[in-house]
Amino acid sequence: MDAKKTRELDAREAMAKVRASLPIFQWKKSILDTVRNSRVVIVVGETGSGKTTQIPQYIFESKMTAPTKRIAVTQPRRVAAITVAQRVAEEMGSVIGTGPVGYCVRFDDTTTPNTKLKFMTDGMLVREALLSPSLDAYSVIVLDEAHERSLQTDILFGVVKRALAVRKDLRVVVMSATLDVGLFESFFKESAPAVLRIPGRMHPVEIFYTAKALPDYLDAVLVTTLQIHLDNPDNNGSVLVFLTGQDDIETMEGLLTDYGTRLPATAAKLLVCPIFSAMPREAQMLAFEPAPRGVRKVILATNIAETSITINGVRFVVDAGLVKQRSFVGHMEHLQVESISQAQAWQRSGRAGREAPGVCYRLFPEEKFEELEPRAVPEIKRVSLEVVVLQLKVMGIDDIIGFDFIERPNTNNLLKALEKLYALGAFNTDGSLTPRGRTMASLPVDPMCAVMLLKALELGCAADALSVVAMLSVESIFYSPREQKEKAASSRAQFVSVDGDQIMLLNVFNAYNQTASKQRGKWCRDHFINHRAMQRVEKVREQLTGYLSKVAETDAVVTASALPDTVPVRKAIVAGFFLNAAMRTKSALMSKASFQTMCNAVKEDVKVHPSSVLFMRNPPPRYVVFNELVFTSKHYIRNLVPIEKDWLVEAAPQFFKKVDQMHQ
Ligand code: ADP
Ligand code: MG
Repeated sequence: MDAKKTRELDAREAMAKVRASLPIFQWKKSILDTVRNSRVVIVVGETGSGKTTQIPQYIFESKMTAPTKRIAVTQPRRVAAITVAQRVAEEMGSVIGTGPVGYCVRFDDTTTPNTKLKFMTDGMLVREALLSPSLDAYSVIVLDEAHERSLQTDILFGVVKRALAVRKDLRVVVMSATLDVGLFESFFKESAPAVLRIPGRMHPVEIFYTAKALPDYLDAVLVTTLQIHLDNPDNNGSVLVFLTGQDDIETMEGLLTDYGTRLPATAAKLLVCPIFSAMPREAQMLAFEPAPRGVRKVILATNIAETSITINGVRFVVDAGLVKQRSFVGHMEHLQVESISQAQAWQRSGRAGREAPGVCYRLFPEEKFEELEPRAVPEIKRVSLEVVVLQLKVMGIDDIIGFDFIERPNTNNLLKALEKLYALGAFNTDGSLTPRGRTMASLPVDPMCAVMLLKALELGCAADALSVVAMLSVESIFYSPREQKEKAASSRAQFVSVDGDQIMLLNVFNAYNQTASKQRGKWCRDHFINHRAMQRVEKVREQLTGYLSKVAETDAVVTASALPDTVPVRKAIVAGFFLNAAMRTKSALMSKASFQTMCNAVKEDVKVHPSSVLFMRNPPPRYVVFNELVFTSKHYIRNLVPIEKDWLVEAAPQFFKKVDQMHQ
């Protein structure tokens, strides 16, 4: 046998050993028997026990599924869907894109006709259900991370329950990391669900709290991480740090890398591995690689590392107790950093004790822990429901209020979503779906952005609107290193437009796009623009263009730009976001100006966010439409464009007559 073959065999054997060492392995037979005998199986097992990577493989290997059908495994997060699929492909000795394993997430579908095991975000499976409500392509549907209670997984519960009623051949496996499964059991009671509890192995984890609340969480993270590193020279276990988002991860990556070069000569090296959704696939996989000898790995992760993915070798956890999530405050939804629940804090600390005793540093006082909610509020009770209401309507569910939700959202929120969709033209007066509503649902963006894109097709500025929507889909385009703040600001100035923030984003995209591909990395560095984010924008834009082309009559319409005239694209923004209109109420100085939202039942006073290009503009525009409301000490509006009052009346005549009269 040649050397290459021997190496391959060795690697296969090693992989088989690793798989057999997971707690779930001993349960393989009973899992398969249960799935054979019960149409709904609920599997509970500690994070890292092997549920996600193994159970789909067991089912696949058992050949219990119909040869023409697939196994779907859903994940609330795209990074999890991608990394898990890659891991499973590797374990099976196959390759994503040709072999039986594939993944499908928004803007990135690697599945082929050969795909049998399809890892996907919950949102993608909901989108498939729009076309095929009984999910005919699948014989087994695995709803993973069910404890997480993401909005789209919650909708899938209702969807698969309906599918089970019409398809006797369908099997559903619900997987959860917490013991609390009563809700799932009672929801599926007609199918007599079987519950399997996989005992985990957990080592003790020592918990430390801070003496008092800390003012600067990033500073506390930095100090704690370096301290762990220097205090534990003999234990080079990895450190897992929970941060709130890409911005903080990138800041911390910079700080730690910088400090890493200035450590005492005797200290081990640091290897900083960020992991978040907007990073390239290869870079995401890097976090899973074992650290080289004598090097300590520090993993900087969002909530993704809480239960969705497990990185081996973690012995220390640093937890600031924060999470960034969507939620409603007042009348509008936005992203906000909030405290985690006690259950989440326990999940996070548990990550340190998988392979050996570990330590968790909670960067808040113990009294604060006692005050945390025992459990997180499920997303369906926290966020706006337009997207799901539209999806349910497209699936033919007319009675939204009567839908069999696993946990009922607030009726008021459902009604608000129905109203908003009606205002956007998705429904007729009798509540039935309009063709426009159906088209809106076919675009993988929220209904407001969908309407904006559709209007842009009419106004001959689709290319501009596509760029804006793609730019808004990524978190941070600009960065400004501490020591070069002024330079970064002056570089940014060249993109600024009096026509608003979205137009500035459009200018950035166009300047980037006009740069030769090979020069783009340098161009980004020179302009303090995040190259990775721009690459993602390109990808998102390309895919969105594909979706919009299907709606448009000709390809030419999709590539039309109205620039340098920005009126059409601003009008398109108004068409989608007129509910976010605000009018100036006080002060002719922009930085002091107040605005009042125009369409809420309760008018809110808002200020322009200091990051807006309009912040310094004098006099301030009388009317604006904004994309986002941010809550810090004040209510700020971010990403806004100045508009004319007439555009509002034009975009939503029924809506604005009333408002008009009110403000005359
Ligand atoms: P669970 O779903 O029960 O939380 P998983 O199936 O995600 O467990 O993880 C089982 C094991 O697979 C863990 O030891 C984890 O570290 C390992 N694993 C998962 N993904 C990867 C990867 N991309 N590279 C290396 N190991 C991985
Ligand atoms: Mg899992």
